[in-house]
Amino acid sequence: MKPLGPIPEGYKAIDGELAIGGRKTSELVETAGRTPLFVYSKDRIASRIVSLRSAMPDRIKINYAIKANPFPALLDFIAPLVDGLDIASGGELELIRNAGIDGSRVSFAGPGKRNEELEAAIRAGVTLNLESENEARRALDIAERTGVQPRLAIRVNPDFELKGSGMKMGGGAKPFGVDAERVPELARTIIEAGCEWRGLHIFTGSQALSAEAVIETQANVLELALRLANEAGVGLPKLNMGGGFGIPYFNGDEPLDIGSVGDALGKLFKRHEQDIAQTEFFIELGRYLVGEAGVYLTRIVDRKESHGETYLVTDGGLHHQLAASGNFGTVVRRNYPLAIATRFEADPVETTNVVGCLCTPLDRLADKAHLPHAEVHDIVAVFCAGAYGASASPSAFLGQGPAAEMLI
Ligand SMILES: *Cc1c(COP(=O)(O)O)cnc(C)c1O
Repeated sequence: MKPLGPIPEGYKAIDGELAIGGRKTSELVETAGRTPLFVYSKDRIASRIVSLRSAMPDRIKINYAIKANPFPALLDFIAPLVDGLDIASGGELELIRNAGIDGSRVSFAGPGKRNEELEAAIRAGVTLNLESENEARRALDIAERTGVQPRLAIRVNPDFELKGSGMKMGGGAKPFGVDAERVPELARTIIEAGCEWRGLHIFTGSQALSAEAVIETQANVLELALRLANEAGVGLPKLNMGGGFGIPYFNGDEPLDIGSVGDALGKLFKRHEQDIAQTEFFIELGRYLVGEAGVYLTRIVDRKESHGETYLVTDGGLHHQLAASGNFGTVVRRNYPLAIATRFEADPVETTNVVGCLCTPLDRLADKAHLPHAEVHDIVAVFCAGAYGASASPSAFLGQGPAAEMLI
């Protein structure tokens, strides 16, 4: 038997079935008309943001990194609740436009921005987090040609990383950002060229659950940013400190203690009070805001035995849940939180494997999980499905197509 990850707090049953936003699973599936189905809860997103704001110092602004979940209805809902939005492609810029979000609230990071993407972003008033000197040059050329003053920040590749994070995005050679020692010169160059200077962006990693690691990194980020601005002899109007706040996915994971993070950040600001009077501070979060607000529902289409093991075969799988299958940035596969939604209150009585419908052994949703007895037609719920689910999985694989999505 292998343990399942922890189900996020607050999920209850109605008539023995998992309820989301006060509605039974079977009813949600009926409304959607099909499985597989992602259900995202407005209440959970809103209350997550409220509690995060109350933990953080007042001057911290919160950006939503839309790559975590760009579902249009969710974007419409979350945009007014956050201070800004982070995008990572021209395609995401289109989503921002379609949602009617003003470009002045948006920043655009990501390596390999094409000229057309840079131009569209500059015209929309989006802040570009420059990833290289070459990108800076191209942005300045576009600015000159179009006569639009670009809003430019520099993404720094720091010489440290966020310890214990799931995906490391800083420290050593990286395709992201400009190596710290070259930042002052680039800052002077772009300011002299007449851009609107928007400061620095330092993103060090993702999916951190240790408050201690986040606190240490935030102190390093602030110190590095102040040192670079000082060396460049420029102001620091804005600092995007990254984020990396994680959520518990696996057995033994403990939630990040954001109270401690917020307290430490408050003290850090106090220590540097003088140097940061003019600076606006942002953190950028994806999964922390929406990850636990999503549930993936998939129906069991077959139940079979093989060499003494039971397989529950569902109509979903890794084409919507690459991360839960263990194939998105994980080294060792562990089980996500998962339940038989239609028997949410039943006792676990058997050890089963829950798999997807794809013809590949990679397509697993739970290995040797202790679950209630389930039959064909029951519905399986995979939790923590609100981030990097639908948009980060290969939905075209094997011709399966995307899941339905619903915000309630
Ligand atoms: C992916 C990414 C994020 C969001 O990461 P989460 O783990 O979802 O919070 C934020 N900033 C940058 C630069 C990213 O690449």
